[in-house]
Amino acid sequence: MLLATGLALGATAFSVDLFSPQLSANAAGTYLRPCGDVPISSTWQGHRNRKPPSGEPGTDYAVAMRSPIRAATGGVIVDRKDTTDSATGRYIALRADDGNYIRYLHLASSAVAIGTRVSRGQVIAYSGASGFGSETGYGSHVHVSLWLGGTPSQLGFPNTVNFENLVDGGPVPIYPEDDPVPTHQSTDFATSVALPANTWTTVAVAAGQLYLAIVGNGIVETGDVSLNLKANGLTTGLQVRLVAEKLASNSGPVVTTLVQPVTEIRATAAAGSPTQGQHAQSYQLVGPMRLFVQLMALNSGVTLTGISVRKNYWTS
Ligand SMILES: [Zn+2]
Repeated sequence: MLLATGLALGATAFSVDLFSPQLSANAAGTYLRPCGDVPISSTWQGHRNRKPPSGEPGTDYAVAMRSPIRAATGGVIVDRKDTTDSATGRYIALRADDGNYIRYLHLASSAVAIGTRVSRGQVIAYSGASGFGSETGYGSHVHVSLWLGGTPSQLGFPNTVNFENLVDGGPVPIYPEDDPVPTHQSTDFATSVALPANTWTTVAVAAGQLYLAIVGNGIVETGDVSLNLKANGLTTGLQVRLVAEKLASNSGPVVTTLVQPVTEIRATAAAGSPTQGQHAQSYQLVGPMRLFVQLMALNSGVTLTGISVRKNYWTS
């Protein structure tokens, strides 16, 4: 406790706050990326889409360990942390001359002291992967956070803006990370359904639930689904397929039936014990549509005893 207080006081004593609210926060199109044109491994919006959202949304630039990090613009180094602890790991903070505040996280080391005036493009640190008390708390990258017109403690740590919107040349195109974080759905359903041989039978995927997905008019659901099936009485095998139906409206009727590829599960179990098999497929449903599962036993006397659904999806 005493040690923690001492460290906090020390940090305050050495930090320099040059916050000047009257300065313009407008710096659009002038900032320098920290390591040039390198891949972005997670966008600012991607950080915000996390569940829970990032406490300090920023842009992650994927760079090799110990890449030089250059100041986005002229300003003064106002904060610096040299330990790997917490989610930030080592960081350095720049109070830009335009009044904005920029933090570079997960460093291997910082190159300039608190209070140093730096110019645009000057090397201020070296990238790393530090965080959570480790030099390798992440994959190697630098995370850049930007606050407009104030410090993070004044504005709130989550209230960053997208650094990429202020870089020279404008933001790079949208990345797949901007897709929403998928919703995960997981059900395990013990059942007992007799499957007649050589006939496709629609089966429920959970108690009282016939459909894997029902998507209303104007909604698009994108995802992947995997089914784990357990059946008794297989001597030959079992076929599995998904079927999608396009509806005229949310309540039907069916306009088009789209039969999907078949997976065949061969009988493997010793007599008396269940055969297990898996079927997986990615999908996109443009509402109004619905999706369900059909099974066909290849021999008589087959009973489906369990169906587990693992589904990851998002709607737009
Ligand atoms: Zn990040």
